[in-house]
Amino acid sequence: LPDDEKLGVAMVGLGSLSTNQIAPALQKTKRCKLAAIVSGTAAKREKWSKQYDLAPEHIYTYETFDKIAEDETVDIIYVVLPNGMHCEYTVRAAKAGKHVFCEKPMAISSVECRQMIDACEKAERLLGIGYRCQFEPHHRRCIELAESKTFGDIKGITGGFGFKIGDPTQWRLNKKLAGGGPLMDVGIYALQACRYLTGLEPELITATQTKTDPVKFAEVEETLSWTMKMGDVNCSLMTTYAFNGINNFHAYCDNGNFGLDPAFNYSGIKGKSSKGPIEFEQVDHFAAELDHFAECISNGTELRVPGETGLQDLLIMEAIFKAADSGLAIKP
Ligand code: NDP
Repeated sequence: LPDDEKLGVAMVGLGSLSTNQIAPALQKTKRCKLAAIVSGTAAKREKWSKQYDLAPEHIYTYETFDKIAEDETVDIIYVVLPNGMHCEYTVRAAKAGKHVFCEKPMAISSVECRQMIDACEKAERLLGIGYRCQFEPHHRRCIELAESKTFGDIKGITGGFGFKIGDPTQWRLNKKLAGGGPLMDVGIYALQACRYLTGLEPELITATQTKTDPVKFAEVEETLSWTMKMGDVNCSLMTTYAFNGINNFHAYCDNGNFGLDPAFNYSGIKGKSSKGPIEFEQVDHFAAELDHFAECISNGTELRVPGETGLQDLLIMEAIFKAADSGLAIKP
């Protein structure tokens, strides 16, 4: 699209993801452009305004954020804040009359997710959630293999995502800002994969957790394993902040199997099936999901990942926490 037909995106929270992934992706999108920034850090506001040639009237702080309502260059507000701030800024963005794209996890509770959906419905604006893997060709191929029953019905899925977390003072270990530990942060990718591969929802959930460092993980989980019965599919998954290396899913079917490992990185995804490797060109996940969101706004087509998808994941994660705490099998 010519530049003046592209939708303007305002980024809220200029942390690691915004700086290293989303801003570069915005330079590659066909339908979006960076139009404004919202940041609490003066040095970042200065650096970004120079780097991306943004005039002072498109630079906001959290205090001046609501004035963005009058900024006609902004069509979409992209919330890239710590999880515990997603709800507040999504609701404020909707009240400012803008479409909202919100990073995963959508929020830190299902109650918040419902407030976000309501606010966007009331404002008649779209709400999209940043599940980038749904726009990635290896994942799309796996969804096709599942839907076409190439290897027959899926009977079991294993998978997980985790990493060894560093700095003990970061917001990811703070319950109020993170909502939970590795499940909210990265385990959610494995949970999502089970849902988009099977098209089914969990009926029964069990979970166990281990904690080897109760000081560092005073507020959130350290390692969590869970199972989900989804129709006749048995899923067994793990997430952790204690070790590196787990980053995959595999689906076992009547007549074969398929999966990705690594599955959830920004690039370098590798897949295999009983018929051979699953190979595609690597794409920019963030550019792909933003272009899809812009296309839905412009053409009125259906969102692949609406707020309802994020809400459902929060309901499932709440059930996983309940199962881990109680030791019981929980119906979400
Ligand atoms: P960072 O900590 O790197 O950045 C968060 C930014 O939020 C900060 O730099 C800061 O920006 C702003 N902020 C405002 N208030 C606070 C506060 N109280 N504490 C900390 N930061 C604050 O986080 P990430 O960029 O890694 O993650 C941001 C969001 O993106 C999360 O929801 C995360 O789950 C999601 N994410 C998604 C990924 C994906 O693949 N889809 C990958 C990584 C993260 P400023 O100084 O500009 O105000």
